[in-house]
Amino acid sequence: MLRFFGRDGQSENQADHGGKSTMARFIFITGGVVSSLGKGLASAALGSLLQARGYTVRLRKLDPYLNVDPGTMSPFEHGEVFVTDDGAETDLDLGHYERFTGVAARNTDSVSSGRIYSNVLEKERRGDYLGKTIQVIPHVTNEIKDFISIGEDEVDFMLCEIGGTVGDIEGLPFFEAIRQFAQDKPRGQCVFMHLTLLPWIKASGELKTKPTQHSVKELRSIGLAPDILVCRSEGPIPQKEREKLALFCNVRHDAVIAAQDLKSIYEAPLAYHREGLDQAVLDAFQISPAPKPDLTKWEDVADRIYNAEGEVRIAIVGKYTQLEDAYKSIAEALTHGGMANRVKVRIEWVDAEIFDKEDPAPHLEGYHAILVPGGFGERGTEGKIKAAQFAREHNVPYLGICLGMQMAVIEAARNVAGISEAGSEEFDHESTGKKRFEPVVYHLKEWVQGNYKVKRSLSDDKGGTMRLGAYNATLKAGSHVSEIYGSTEIEERHRHRYEVDIKYRDKLEEKGLCFSGMSPDGRLPEIVEWSDHPWFIGVQFHPELKSKPFAPHPLFASFVRAAVETSRLV
Ligand code: GLN
Repeated sequence: MLRFFGRDGQSENQADHGGKSTMARFIFITGGVVSSLGKGLASAALGSLLQARGYTVRLRKLDPYLNVDPGTMSPFEHGEVFVTDDGAETDLDLGHYERFTGVAARNTDSVSSGRIYSNVLEKERRGDYLGKTIQVIPHVTNEIKDFISIGEDEVDFMLCEIGGTVGDIEGLPFFEAIRQFAQDKPRGQCVFMHLTLLPWIKASGELKTKPTQHSVKELRSIGLAPDILVCRSEGPIPQKEREKLALFCNVRHDAVIAAQDLKSIYEAPLAYHREGLDQAVLDAFQISPAPKPDLTKWEDVADRIYNAEGEVRIAIVGKYTQLEDAYKSIAEALTHGGMANRVKVRIEWVDAEIFDKEDPAPHLEGYHAILVPGGFGERGTEGKIKAAQFAREHNVPYLGICLGMQMAVIEAARNVAGISEAGSEEFDHESTGKKRFEPVVYHLKEWVQGNYKVKRSLSDDKGGTMRLGAYNATLKAGSHVSEIYGSTEIEERHRHRYEVDIKYRDKLEEKGLCFSGMSPDGRLPEIVEWSDHPWFIGVQFHPELKSKPFAPHPLFASFVRAAVETSRLV
């Protein structure tokens, strides 16, 4: 049942429903009471349930913050930046959407107030508004509505999640836009789902509905009436509270959906189905009879999670270890790798900066594999280099992603090929601008994207100026990676400014560091591997972004397998 990689989740049973749709139905997902209730997850799970009933879906995120995109936001604050095939830097919720539905997100699936306002202002400067006074209504709201309807003829359901919570000042234009949008459409084409929290008051032993009532009141004051209420709670919602919620919030009894805390997010589709969420949505659209769902894919996923045999411990040696969301997709891809091997993956976060002063050995001994993720800036890089050295010298499986690959190459250059000053131009640029390192990793100023040549300089803006999105790579036949992928042609997503310099290739290959993946023009190293190591691979791209629970990425499946083998040796 478990499939490997690259499968678009919705192509499977689409045929039953005649394929092409004419006009999408829209589901708007809003949140209330508090943030971080798992709106993204609920949206993604609902998307997967609609697919299980044979429908095609697309999910979108509308974020009220003023940054133009999350590309320049700190991972400490905002979690990871999710990169799409077409090179957009987006919110991490798009990662959930892809992992649950298998539908590759696009640049047009994520928007922020910053982007909306910047589009409006650009049009204003161009004179597109013909001298009119530019206002939130209708100019900003029109821009939002235009965004929502992009590609509406391509799918059966478009799910649009509004970031933040109802009542936020920044969110108002979005709420107003979706209100208007539903009015513009024929009746019955839009459904509103609202996610709230039912707090449990320990002292009185009660589940409180009042915050939800207030949240719905707030929504109704701006003209939106939820059709479906999804209520997060620690335990089940008693009948009495359900009735109260339905009555006071003006939703149907069956449309009060409990969302209890789950042990694994991948149980969410099954849990929401048991609670009747997909049925409530189809009822709200008056789709009857509703097509029967096929949930075998999710049953298999849950079985692999809850019936894992054994456990491996994997260290992630990184910089943003205080906030796990900073490496969200990596953590998920490792979990998928565990599912492929029917083992539980215990991830432990190790702060790379510790190794600036301390020997890594006592910190890294006992792990069955080491992963060094992507990152920016010099802080913590000496520690990452030491982690790569430890893995190489002790035959511990090592996966270096982006910066993690660059650090593995620097380690090889310094400690094996005798280039003692080896380093990255990134660190020189960042500090004094003075040259401290021999640039084994250098700033890329020009590269080929499709039929175009892209040119960049360091003085360019920080936003959106990296090598971003999907690029092909050619793998060396007979290499470890070609065996893992089962192919010599791959396509993976990128997000970086610096590249390993092929100038050093011969010297490093002589010492056994094989450049096993290259850009098709042979200029940019995409993958390196130690030929005499059981499992040591560095990749310039981000394989974690394409892994799915029902289609684990082959690199992660193989990496976890290697960890399982190490665990048997110790
Ligand atoms: N900072 C490095 C670069 O820009 C690596 C980026 C990353 O790991 N995503 O090339």
